[in-house]
Amino acid sequence: MICLGIESTAHTFGAGIACDGKSHSRKNNRRKILSNVKSVYQPPLGFGIHPKQAAACHKENAVDILKKALKQAKVGMKDVDIIAISQGPGLPPCLNIGMAVAQTLAVKYKKPVLGVNHCIAHIEIGRLTAGVKDPIVVYVSGGNTQIIGHAAGRYRVFGETEDIAIGNARDLLARRLGLGQPGGPIIDKLAKKGKKYIELPYIVKGMDLSYTGIVTAALKKYKNGAKLEDLLYSFQETTFAMLVEVTERALAHTGKSEVLLTGGVAASPRLRKMMQVMCNERGAKLSAVKKEYAGDCGANIAWTGLLAYKNNIKSLEMNAKIKQNWRVDEIQWSLS
Ligand code: AMP
Ligand code: MG
Repeated sequence: MICLGIESTAHTFGAGIACDGKSHSRKNNRRKILSNVKSVYQPPLGFGIHPKQAAACHKENAVDILKKALKQAKVGMKDVDIIAISQGPGLPPCLNIGMAVAQTLAVKYKKPVLGVNHCIAHIEIGRLTAGVKDPIVVYVSGGNTQIIGHAAGRYRVFGETEDIAIGNARDLLARRLGLGQPGGPIIDKLAKKGKKYIELPYIVKGMDLSYTGIVTAALKKYKNGAKLEDLLYSFQETTFAMLVEVTERALAHTGKSEVLLTGGVAASPRLRKMMQVMCNERGAKLSAVKKEYAGDCGANIAWTGLLAYKNNIKSLEMNAKIKQNWRVDEIQWSLS
């Protein structure tokens, strides 16, 4: 079976093709991801994503990206069995473009469309590419910060941010400090040079986290003369330690023995190091999603579309709506 996946929840318009290895036309093909092509909307320097501008950018690039994804996979629309669309969560103007593209293709080529949850797609591509079975997932991206585990027939959120995502907090701080974007890799680099720990708020409430107050406090300390490298070092240590604490408690509570890092912030070497120390102490195995699939992309959605089909998720009606705030725990989902 072959699935065309379309991603369009925020800054990325992506298309990818996944195959479960049982397609009639590619009997012996054991490869699962056949292509992955995307274009990423770049906001003007110093600004965050403007949803309508991002959507306009996606609209312009959609056809080109789809053609390239099919070409890279060496398949035609006739070979595609199902279309998967990232139905939410995300920014409505962007989600609407993806949905319109998917439904248009569905009508033209008479294919079923399955709605895929964007967060589950990040988890499933992580499980596939890191080879883990039943992990505690640390999903850290520009728009999401959640500690998730599978329990009693669905993914459940054990802890999450109460305000902004950690990726957003990092990018926001870097922007406000005039460091450029995306801020994540810049903070990683400068924080290495920091020596002195500057006290910042450490905000964990139960299993939930909060980041806006820390960004504000860090900016205030900078205004009052704190050294940039020391400040970024302290910001990074504090915010990552909060994540490690909640992840450790989720491991202890569930008795699971694997941790999977996924989402764009999973690329941070310091986060990996800190998680590794905790995992070593607990005898747990740490894995991370393969780098090329860490950010938003069509391959994530295509692979999860195949799993959605196996999970008996019904195909969408023609007038199906996007799901702006769709949570992972709303979906019955078994681990295959
Ligand atoms: P996503 O929303 O999954 O695309 O993740 C975006 C977040 O990942 C942003 O906060 C980026 O700053 C961050 N990011 C992207 N690449 C890297 C990298 N190589 N190292 C650290 N952070 C990164
Ligand atoms: Mg994402």
